[in-house]
Amino acid sequence: MCYAALRRGGPSLVTEQPRKATAAEIQRAAEIILDSSYPIALTGAGMSVESGIPPFRGPGGLWTKYGEPPMNQFQRFMADPKKAWEERLSSRNDEFYKPLTEARPNPGHIALAELEALGLLRFVITQNVDDLHRQAGQKSLAEIHGNWKLIRCLECALRFRREQIDLSVLPPRCPECDGIVKSDTVSFGEPIPIDVLNQCAAHAAKADLVIVAGTSATVYPAAGFALEVKQRGGVMVEVNLYDSEITPICDVSLGGGSAEVLPKLVKAVSALRRSRAS
Ligand SMILES: [Zn+2]
Repeated sequence: MCYAALRRGGPSLVTEQPRKATAAEIQRAAEIILDSSYPIALTGAGMSVESGIPPFRGPGGLWTKYGEPPMNQFQRFMADPKKAWEERLSSRNDEFYKPLTEARPNPGHIALAELEALGLLRFVITQNVDDLHRQAGQKSLAEIHGNWKLIRCLECALRFRREQIDLSVLPPRCPECDGIVKSDTVSFGEPIPIDVLNQCAAHAAKADLVIVAGTSATVYPAAGFALEVKQRGGVMVEVNLYDSEITPICDVSLGGGSAEVLPKLVKAVSALRRSRAS
């Protein structure tokens, strides 16, 4: 299998006919989950879309509508943090943030949190910045592109809620170390915070199963953690509405949205566990 070919793929799902997982496929995935010792998940934009959040790119996309950030967004921030904060606060577009503000976890987010509570999901790596996994109660979680509700210190990497930060003097400073803070959302040109990468690497190294939901797993570095599990001989289960770039390498590919398929999967896992116990 040529994984390098996957890396060249874009972030968008291959659009063909919507697929629908059969009961037998869901049962097979449930068996795989129960037989795994360290299952993790990778989630992406498909799960956000099912909560009513438009994608960034494409028709109706937030960036399509309001303009794409510059590719050197982070370098511009670092060159003049005061100006960057002034711009951010003055141009804050309520329309842009409205879908994020209004979105609620969907049954897919809740199903993953349930799987974790059952002891059958050890870690979630999400590419989404929408906070919905947290709101669903997911505890072991890495938001690899940050969380739009948080502000991060560039010195000590502590995260804060917006109301914890004094915005009366710009650029605002970290209440702990006086370092400069920026939005936790990873900007174009900004490295993924090292604490998050280390956390993902540690869990991926232990994983023998990765459930990929709502993403074609082609955006790096997140995709690399999922592919690493597969390359090491682990199992890959996909939940995507359409055929994706990773469908050919998945052990089980479940057709359908996460909000529809993941709750069925959790139900099947619970039933199977009960039947094995009796
Ligand atoms: Zn700090």
